[in-house]
Amino acid sequence: MAQILDGKALAKDIKDELKVKISNWVNQGNRSPSLRCIIVGEDPASHTYVANKIQAALDVGIAADTIKYDASLSQEELLAAIDALNKDDEVDGILIQLPLPRGIDERRVCNAVAPEKDVDGFHIINIGQLSLDMPTVVPATALAVVEMLKRFKIQTFGRNAVVVGRSKNVGMPIAMMLHSDRNHDSGLGMDATVTICHRYTPREQLELFCRNADIVITATGVPKLIKADMIKPGATVIDVGITRITTEQGKTKLVGDVDYENVSKIAGAITPVPGGVGPMTVAMLMQNTFQVAQRLRQSQIEN
Ligand code: NAD
Repeated sequence: MAQILDGKALAKDIKDELKVKISNWVNQGNRSPSLRCIIVGEDPASHTYVANKIQAALDVGIAADTIKYDASLSQEELLAAIDALNKDDEVDGILIQLPLPRGIDERRVCNAVAPEKDVDGFHIINIGQLSLDMPTVVPATALAVVEMLKRFKIQTFGRNAVVVGRSKNVGMPIAMMLHSDRNHDSGLGMDATVTICHRYTPREQLELFCRNADIVITATGVPKLIKADMIKPGATVIDVGITRITTEQGKTKLVGDVDYENVSKIAGAITPVPGGVGPMTVAMLMQNTFQVAQRLRQSQIEN
């Protein structure tokens, strides 16, 4: 049976470490880091995600608030709200919960957040810096995957990795760090040989690439996409996918992209869903918020 990479326990350790760091920082005379989460509309899953983020922030000593808007909010009104937060010296981190209602241009909104307050790392400048292996704010889910590989001591140097899913917020930044040079400035490079698969990768090719991989990271939202006969014995499997399904008994539950029951008999290490990458994403978001607060305070001192 595979080693279970317990993201929930690791996230707790990281948040405990962060709580101490933030407390020390505040004791040195700094204001507590602050986070504002904007949510537009009534999507229940988005409201749950935001509530989890706010609770995690409060737990580690970040002053966090949700700003809720009706789905009828116009793009101009949202941009104006973001602009006000950008200019507010009491606000360090700004997060816009995605997806946004139809009619609002998400790229435009992500680019409206000041890059130095962009805790999601979705601003064009932060993505550009990530692509150039420069120090930056890294999207939390991708950072969660990298942190899990590091903390669980999964070897990546020279190994074959497959990333299934190429979204700009999840698959792409994961692949970016996995293939990068660890000696570059960001310090996040993992020196793996990376293959990116997506919805137009023919099934037999997906199977072939996965079978050749030492590490399979999947982020598609397609339940049971990754089956046991696609996994090399002993490989590491990181499941980013989260899909809510209804069981035959009529109950709802969260599942990943991986046929966990069977893949866990073949893999060397595997993340569960729930309790894997999900809680680690929230922990990394808290780390990002502290990072932007420290950088902002440093630049205020220098100017
Ligand atoms: P997305 O819809 O933007 O992207 C999905 C990707 O999967 C696309 O690149 C698509 O090409 C690929 N894909 C779809 N069907 C495929 C197939 N049959 N074979 C191979 N590739 C296929 O989604 P996203 O925002 O990248 O999120 C992906 C999944 O990760 C979702 O389930 C989402 O809920 C989950 N997610 C989890 C976390 C977390 O913290 N654990 C965070 C963000 C997203």
